[in-house]
Amino acid sequence: MEKGQISVQTENIFPIIKKFLYSDHEIFLRELVSNAVDATQKIKGIAQLGEYSGELGDLTINVEVDKEAKTITITDRGIGMTADEVKKYINQIAFSSANEFVEKFKDVEDGKSIIGHFGLGFYSAFMVADTVDIITKSYKDEPAAKWSCDGSTEYTLGADEKQDRGTTIVLHVSEEESSFLEDAKISDLLKKYCRFLPVPIRFGDKYLSEEEIKEGKTPEPNIINITDPAWTKTPSSLTDEDYLNFYKELYPFSPDPLFWIHLNVDYPFNLTGILYFPPQKETYEVQKDKIQLYSNQVFVTNNVEEIVPEYLTLLHGVIDSPDIPLNVSRSYLQSDGNVKKINSHISKKVSDKLNDIFKNDRESFEEKWSDISIFVKYGMLSDEKFYDRSNKFCLLKNTDGELATIEEYKEKIKDNQTDKNEQLVVLYTNSVEEQDAYIKRAKDRSYDVLVLDSIIDNHFIQMLEQKLEKVSFKRVDADTLDKLIEKDETFESILSQEQQDQLKTIFESQVKKETTNIEMKALSPDDMPVMITRNEFMRRMHEMSKMGGGGMMMFGDMPERINMVVNTNHPSLKTILDTEEATQGKLVKQLTDLALLSQGMLKGADLTNFVERSFELVAK
Ligand code: ADP
Repeated sequence: MEKGQISVQTENIFPIIKKFLYSDHEIFLRELVSNAVDATQKIKGIAQLGEYSGELGDLTINVEVDKEAKTITITDRGIGMTADEVKKYINQIAFSSANEFVEKFKDVEDGKSIIGHFGLGFYSAFMVADTVDIITKSYKDEPAAKWSCDGSTEYTLGADEKQDRGTTIVLHVSEEESSFLEDAKISDLLKKYCRFLPVPIRFGDKYLSEEEIKEGKTPEPNIINITDPAWTKTPSSLTDEDYLNFYKELYPFSPDPLFWIHLNVDYPFNLTGILYFPPQKETYEVQKDKIQLYSNQVFVTNNVEEIVPEYLTLLHGVIDSPDIPLNVSRSYLQSDGNVKKINSHISKKVSDKLNDIFKNDRESFEEKWSDISIFVKYGMLSDEKFYDRSNKFCLLKNTDGELATIEEYKEKIKDNQTDKNEQLVVLYTNSVEEQDAYIKRAKDRSYDVLVLDSIIDNHFIQMLEQKLEKVSFKRVDADTLDKLIEKDETFESILSQEQQDQLKTIFESQVKKETTNIEMKALSPDDMPVMITRNEFMRRMHEMSKMGGGGMMMFGDMPERINMVVNTNHPSLKTILDTEEATQGKLVKQLTDLALLSQGMLKGADLTNFVERSFELVAK
């Protein structure tokens, strides 16, 4: 038996490792099982090259928990190690990387925020174990070796009886980590990290019912993983059903995805994966953290925010890349060149796929539009390149449910909705229910009205106004609608100037002066007698400040000014002037309240007064 001293500068590195990886102790299992997988893949490779002529045998990796003995054992039938290799790979290499890690981070207060996903390899075993044994026999014709270390810098290394090829790692689990001796916990961890590893991993046996035991059935080994998940296969070998089945495997309770993209890149970086488009509906109930990141089929994280742009996190699926550095900080990831390239690659693939569907099957694209529109708009808002690729297939929907691309739409409204300054005026509603009267008014004039009612549309509109030349967006109740109408139709007032002035004074006496502008104007006799319109710019500012739009706070404190347009071409106004002076005020108040009511702006005591006054008027 040989005793040795491991050469590290720091006296005892484990307390430090433990401290830094405090919340991530569980990754020890991922690290050890991946080592076992690597060793197994290596023996397969060596056999393929004809450099190993022995039997490969059953290559299943075994994970066992012994609660009595307080051990977790991981056994593989991989290449194994000779005693010399243990010295080299375990004592020197593994220790030196752990040592390097400690050197790097020992002066940092909060290690966790820097580490992210630091793979500590073999030494992560000491996060849960007091003592670790390695019993290993190389595929080379050499005796087996047993190495043992209690987490100090001292180890023992001697010969062992082990006859069959491969490595067994025994973790003598420490008192404070004894929760890892629960079968359920280990089973969960294996499912989390090892579910798609390429070598079968067995954790005990499959459960048998009492009846089955009575029948004398022998339990089958419980293999916890799928060794060839869909993303590792060539797309041509997969059917739609295969893709859907894999989706169900990942998200058992989710509705079927709309479509998917199989990623397969090998230059200038390695990346495979499948991204699914979940049905989104326009509720913006975003489901993030759904993309899982793997590195050579080892699960790394489902928090891919640093790796893919935020809008892509609305997608589901799997990305697998050995080129994404996992052992560095998150802020480093964001500036990593490979990560950037991966980002733009994924984003391009996504828009290409959407464009394909749009071009080849517009009908199906339109059917899916309500499910993907949030995603596309979000992408266009956050990524210039995505905008450039997507504005060709981004669709706009009008109040009749018709869909058109941005260019098609401009063409469609060009003749009817260009104002005096040659500006295209796009009319929209953000609430079909609340703005019904205004929508009707616009449509009566053959104007088209878009429905832009999702939470992202405010920003989307602003972006389009910036990107498109000579196009402005106005909500249907904007004061500018009248300017558009005036271009085509003009009306004369049925009231004399004197009557108009008289009426204006009565109106002004009935409304809140600070917030309401009275404007006398001859509209169509079919228009309402009194109508509220708003300044598009001011309304937007107010809405933004309500949503907490930073520098817009000043608008939030000020009440919004509205326009009350009195239609001097409406017969009811003449009627009011003809009634006795005492009731004129009341009637005018009734009209202004009705105008407010149709905008949903009559509230509280004002609303109660209106209702009471209405009853009174009916009673007369
Ligand atoms: P890494 O896996 O990143 O190289 P580790 O600390 O996990 O670092 O392991 C160090 C080395 O020990 C490995 O590169 C490998 O050569 C050897 N090793 C670890 N586990 C096994 C195993 N189960 N079978 C054979 N060799 C192993």
